[in-house]
Amino acid sequence: MRIGFVGLGAIGRPIAAHLARHHELAVWNRTADRAASFAVEHGGVPAPTPRAVAEGRDLVFTCLPNSPELEAVLAGPDGLEAGLARGAVLVDLTSGIPAVSQRIAGRLGSRGVAFADAPVSGGIKGAEAGTLTIMVGSEPATFERIRPVLETFGKRIVRVGPVGAGDALKAVHNALIAVNIFAIGEALTTLAKAGVAPKTALEVINNANGRSFVSEQLVPERVLTGAWPRTFRLALLDKDVDIARALTDEQGIESPMISTVSRLLHEARAALGEEADHVEAIRLHERRAGVELRA
Ligand code: NDP
Repeated sequence: MRIGFVGLGAIGRPIAAHLARHHELAVWNRTADRAASFAVEHGGVPAPTPRAVAEGRDLVFTCLPNSPELEAVLAGPDGLEAGLARGAVLVDLTSGIPAVSQRIAGRLGSRGVAFADAPVSGGIKGAEAGTLTIMVGSEPATFERIRPVLETFGKRIVRVGPVGAGDALKAVHNALIAVNIFAIGEALTTLAKAGVAPKTALEVINNANGRSFVSEQLVPERVLTGAWPRTFRLALLDKDVDIARALTDEQGIESPMISTVSRLLHEARAALGEEADHVEAIRLHERRAGVELRA
């Protein structure tokens, strides 16, 4: 297929690399150097504008920080929207805002362009391995059209509801990750001060029912080692939890957990900056408790 791809960031780049192996790909990235280096490494043609990346394409993917950035890329005479032809499909891999995805879908639909919100889970490792979980919000017919292409980089691909449903599920899912990060940070710093070493505590927790993906993988690989790799920015997790919190408000649901985690993430983002990784939120607990959780 002729495919366009916008947003060669931490997760967009490995996803686009899979697409380049199987399809004729055009790419556009705000920082043009990254599109040029992608083309050298993986193939594909850098396009001069978002409009040009969409022109003549059956399918266009976007992978941006959030829905406002997607709206900005769609807008204007050189924008993506101007290049999308009737019959094309826009698949947004961004973890975005349900209501904005619905608005975009309505606007594009009136011009005969289909839309799907299709946020992903599985991190950079999952993107590189082509094993991402993809949660799709779309019309059933759109899902059937895009599923074979999503299989290029995804393993579990689920249509979770109409447009906006993928964004909603992704935001709430990431709020669960945030809850787990702050919970294990609080638990391990408390135990360290009470005389239980973090490694020992995890040996027990990870063989008992208080375990989670965060305690089993992220903390041993990133915190105990002090490696702190930067794969998923804390600022993006903060954004996801903001979306989840807005969703609880819209539904009239009280959200003591999500509200608390949201406040803690705002504090962590202010303290650690825009480039810090999400797991670095645990540094806040370390600073407050005056302990380091190293093996
Ligand atoms: P990055 O910050 O690494 O990359 C963001 C991309 O968006 C870059 O290509 C950047 O371009 C581009 N961009 C940013 N702002 C604008 C703008 N105003 N106009 C045009 N382009 C812009 O983010 P990720 O790749 O990590 O994340 C992308 C999406 O995927 C997010 O919604 C995130 O929540 C989600 N996600 C990320 C995962 C991860 O492990 N990283 C896992 C699952 C989901 P430039 O190169 O110029 O900065």
